Amino acid sequence: MPALVDIARDFHAKIVVQKSAQVGLTELAVNRALHAADSGYAGRGNVLFLMPTLDQIEDFAQARFDAAIQDSVYLRRRLQPEPPRRKGADSMRQKQLGHGRIFLRGTESTRAVSSLDADLVILDEFDQMREGTLSRAEKRLASSRQPCLFVLSTPRLPEAGINALYLSSDQRRYFIPCPACGEEQSLTWNENVDMERAIIVCRTCRAGMNVLVQGGWRVGAPENTQVHGYHLSRLYSPWANIPEMILASQATTPLALQEFYNSDLGEPFVPPGGGLGLNELDAARRKYSVQKYAGQPCVMGVDVGIKLHVVIRETKPRRSSFPPLPEFQPRLWFAGQVGFDELDRLMTKFNVLSCAIDEQPERHKAREFLEQSQGGVWLVTYNRHEMGLDVQGRMIKAHRVDFMDQVVERFRRGEAILPEDARNLGGQIKDGYAEYYREMMAPKRVPFRDARGNFDYRWDEGARDDHYFHAEVYALIAEQVRDWHIIVPIWSSQ
Ligand SMILES: [Zn+2]
Repeated sequence: MPALVDIARDFHAKIVVQKSAQVGLTELAVNRALHAADSGYAGRGNVLFLMPTLDQIEDFAQARFDAAIQDSVYLRRRLQPEPPRRKGADSMRQKQLGHGRIFLRGTESTRAVSSLDADLVILDEFDQMREGTLSRAEKRLASSRQPCLFVLSTPRLPEAGINALYLSSDQRRYFIPCPACGEEQSLTWNENVDMERAIIVCRTCRAGMNVLVQGGWRVGAPENTQVHGYHLSRLYSPWANIPEMILASQATTPLALQEFYNSDLGEPFVPPGGGLGLNELDAARRKYSVQKYAGQPCVMGVDVGIKLHVVIRETKPRRSSFPPLPEFQPRLWFAGQVGFDELDRLMTKFNVLSCAIDEQPERHKAREFLEQSQGGVWLVTYNRHEMGLDVQGRMIKAHRVDFMDQVVERFRRGEAILPEDARNLGGQIKDGYAEYYREMMAPKRVPFRDARGNFDYRWDEGARDDHYFHAEVYALIAEQVRDWHIIVPIWSSQ
């Protein structure tokens, strides 16, 4: 790719590259490391090549560095033989090549790099590295005559990680000319992809573009002279699979969309609409009234607070009925506040096959209800680490962010139906809607950095109540586990 040539030749003191996955930049970084070591860059040729984890380095050192050396007669000759006492895993992470040396290290441990002096430091997948890595890496260059720091990563969030570095740089983008009208342009997903023909086109005349044509990097922020910054998306790659990228761009879940922006386009991304909005709740309404409930089988979700917030939704008569029931809709039949003594009555009245109830904070009462029930009751606690559901007997651990995402998706896909007068659900009407709506709109999905400095998301309700939202989460869990009591022994009978 012509765009890579200029990056390969740049030996500015500080270079950052915000990139898509699979555009050849890691390979370029490997070549850079080999060249710097072999030629004795800055009179010494010490290279420190960092990846987020030791595992990545070990897989990677083997795959890329060894292959590159083995594929080249020249480099094989330049590789210094290992002293016999340093064979094994350790020697894989250190190469003596020509005049210099390459050290391969993971950044999980701060000790791993603390004693190395380098002339070129490369940080690959910077956005997965813990906080403080950059300044620790820069310190390793203090003794070099011509220090060079080379940082590359697919981005995650705006104004963080590699994107923050890029924004502090001179912000270069690659411009290529249209073969038809001659207009020079940098490629973007919105302007340069013809969705029907699945090809890259000129943003002005819509003629097909040749991404291998010689172009040029243009500086977007010339006042930032300290850092050279490059942005390279996969649209420039002759190997880009455009039909596959179009498919990825049509993803609906926040995580899949984020993957498209980050890995395919090399752009940071914040999921749109950090929560449910009024329009989305209104769009879930159908012409029916909860007064018309007529014995359909249901599942129930219970959020435990001072009062219990209960949501009851229709479920399929049988999970795998064949032929499928086209008339089935997961209609909401009840949303309200009750006490523990009313749960039994609700379960009977609404033909509840499966009920998931918040174990906290009334642990004792929730267990009592479980033990007195006729089966079909599950106690749920939130879990922040393992995805999906972890079921042990009657106890369920559910990934909080995952299931809150799923509830929102359920509404957006039209798989959670509300009655015509849903705006009145839960009482206390204010601003045109009542408590159910208010609490469903309370949680917002927000990005944050965890203790290890990695980016993640959490659902944040601020100071607002969100009991009904969690009752919907529990109802969804109840739906997902409703047939499991057939195979799982009932915990309460022990
Ligand atoms: Zn054109």
